Amino acid sequence: MPTDPVEAKEKTVDGAARLLGRCKRLLVLTGAGMSADAGVPTFRGSDGLWNNHKMEELASLDGFQRNAELVWEWYYERRLHVATCDPHPGQRTLALLQQHFPRPGRVLMATTNEDDLLERAGVHPVLHLHGSLFDTMCSAHCGWRVRDHQDNSMSMIPCPRCGARVRPGSVWYGEQLPREPLHAIAEFDPDGCLLVGSSCLVQPAAEIPPEMAMDGLPVVEINPDETPFSSIASVSLRGTAKDILPGLVDLLTSHTVRGQRTKSATDPVPP
Ligand code: NAD
Ligand code: ZN
Repeated sequence: MPTDPVEAKEKTVDGAARLLGRCKRLLVLTGAGMSADAGVPTFRGSDGLWNNHKMEELASLDGFQRNAELVWEWYYERRLHVATCDPHPGQRTLALLQQHFPRPGRVLMATTNEDDLLERAGVHPVLHLHGSLFDTMCSAHCGWRVRDHQDNSMSMIPCPRCGARVRPGSVWYGEQLPREPLHAIAEFDPDGCLLVGSSCLVQPAAEIPPEMAMDGLPVVEINPDETPFSSIASVSLRGTAKDILPGLVDLLTSHTVRGQRTKSATDPVPP
């Protein structure tokens, strides 16, 4: 019989809901796997290549300096593809979690994804740790940046402020993450984490769940495959975001939702 509380813990959706339901400040951190069920491929999945080019070459300053046209071509394709994808039930259910997580608990949503599927699923706000796929910015960092999700036209002009070449606004391999979302997470001071569809390999976002687990805080992982984080996760739920999240969120929110329904049923009917 296992005596270690970690071993004894149920590795089930029920067990995960029990752990996360006790949190007062729940951080939900999503990676590329979260959008895979909506049809947006992960980088490491398949063969990790686009037209025989490695993702690390396309999503890096070196790659952009070598062949800006190629990088922009890849971004156009991704922008157009994401625009044709719809949020899946797992993403939609996170909007419910944000609204109905038992009070006084709160939920903070953060993602390393650059797509806008969580926003389109009704999640608000979403902290984008790696920027947005639809942002175009000055490559000389003069501060010029626009949201360019209409027709990509902003990618075809020089920076209107300083004349330098413009580049996609994503955070690339080897670049610093924007400070604001990391500050917002630190200020939120999460006491639990739900990690969905992340390989836990891309730093520094990948440090957050292990640090929390080392501090003894509950961290639940949803991923069809084992990750470097799995061995220290409180619970690893093996499956896809689309299949697992709706049931987990239902367990976490149904008490609040039922309470609200009962309350509205017993509220006096206005004359
Ligand atoms: P990653 O580090 O986020 O890893 C993807 C993880 O998702 C893997 O561990 C994989 O096992 C898991 N996964 C695959 N299908 C899943 C599913 N259906 N449900 C749950 N989990 C699933 O991502 P990466 O692919 O190595 O990409 C690195 C970075 O590139 C990302 O952090 C992001 O910045 C960017 N990226 C963004 C998008 C997007 O915006 N949708 C897509 C690919 C990559
Ligand atoms: Zn500029």
